[in-house]
Amino acid sequence: MNEIPLSRPEFDETEARAVADVLASGWVSQGPKVAEFERAFAGRVGARFGIATTSCTTALHLALLVAGIGEGDEVICPSYSFVATANAILYAGATPVFADIDAHTWNIDPADALRRITPRTKAIMPVHQVGLAADLDALAPAAARGLTVIEDAACAIGATYRGRPVGSHGHISCFSFHPRKTICVGEGGMLMTDDEAIADHARQLRSHGASVSDHARHQASGLVYEEYRELGYNYRMTDLQAAIGLAQLPKLARFLERRRAIADRYDTAFAPLPALQVPARPPYADHAYQSYAVMLTDGCALDRDEAMRALVACGVSCRRGIPPIHLEPLYRDGPGAGSLPITEKVAARSIFLPMYAGLSDADQVRVIDAVGDLAGRTR
Ligand SMILES: *Cc1c(COP(=O)(O)O)cnc(C)c1O
Repeated sequence: MNEIPLSRPEFDETEARAVADVLASGWVSQGPKVAEFERAFAGRVGARFGIATTSCTTALHLALLVAGIGEGDEVICPSYSFVATANAILYAGATPVFADIDAHTWNIDPADALRRITPRTKAIMPVHQVGLAADLDALAPAAARGLTVIEDAACAIGATYRGRPVGSHGHISCFSFHPRKTICVGEGGMLMTDDEAIADHARQLRSHGASVSDHARHQASGLVYEEYRELGYNYRMTDLQAAIGLAQLPKLARFLERRRAIADRYDTAFAPLPALQVPARPPYADHAYQSYAVMLTDGCALDRDEAMRALVACGVSCRRGIPPIHLEPLYRDGPGAGSLPITEKVAARSIFLPMYAGLSDADQVRVIDAVGDLAGRTR
């Protein structure tokens, strides 16, 4: 019996050839392929500018810096997220303030987020968790009060909100190309914006604050010297990774179609079971299903760890629901921590199931049977 993985990136000879071509070109660091990937990805998500980075985490750090966020500022974000969301806020010297999530969508609860605004709040960072868009319109009162909205869109490649792709709604948004996401380059991320000044600033901070990029200097005729006016970072993506991204991008539609078909099958099997709550499908969003989680309801006889052990025994890989950031040792004594009942309940009762474009129908049936079996058990 083969073990069904939780997730797996999808590569073929196209990516291998793309990398070989970059190696043969002799230009492997940030150069023409990165510029091409930025334009192609910006076109796909409907933003004017893309600034490729080493990860979504570093893109989020740049987003906070270009928004002018620093020491003494507060940024509101969900705790039901990967720790990177809050870590980026700490990198900028600011304080994360955690809001609870909605019991249905498991995304930031807009009313709770708006209640947490203080005179020190400078930004709000909704997360489009596991590929389901957060309710951006419900956060508009925050923007109207002068707060910057930074979308953590790490999981949201291909997701839409009110009929338009995540990334096209006029805020700064940050995407990830980690292997757990729908498109993968190894490690990588991208900051999207429609604002040219923000794009220029993010590009400079990505490369030590240099006024001229290596590639521009290389292409210029005559002597060009760069200047360093503020503290920047080395957050540059390489052309090797961008070439992989360019090979992955044309496959995105197929990946999404396959992930949505897998989610439809899971929903059809699990929605009728009283022991399970399936992911929400709010009318304003097309889910991109970067991951698929079910929540064990109060009607389920097993606790989460018992259920996970039962799945692993059937050769089905699974993971616990997202561990809340505010309960981690690094954050639990911090000023932004407190009790978040819905976050804590969803985290304690949910399980991620295998979800990747290459999941075969036969393997999915095995997952459905194993989950259906445990959901039907009574003590
Ligand atoms: C994966 C993820 C990140 C971090 O992305 P990296 O590219 O690995 O830095 C940030 N936020 C969320 C919600 C994520 O799922």
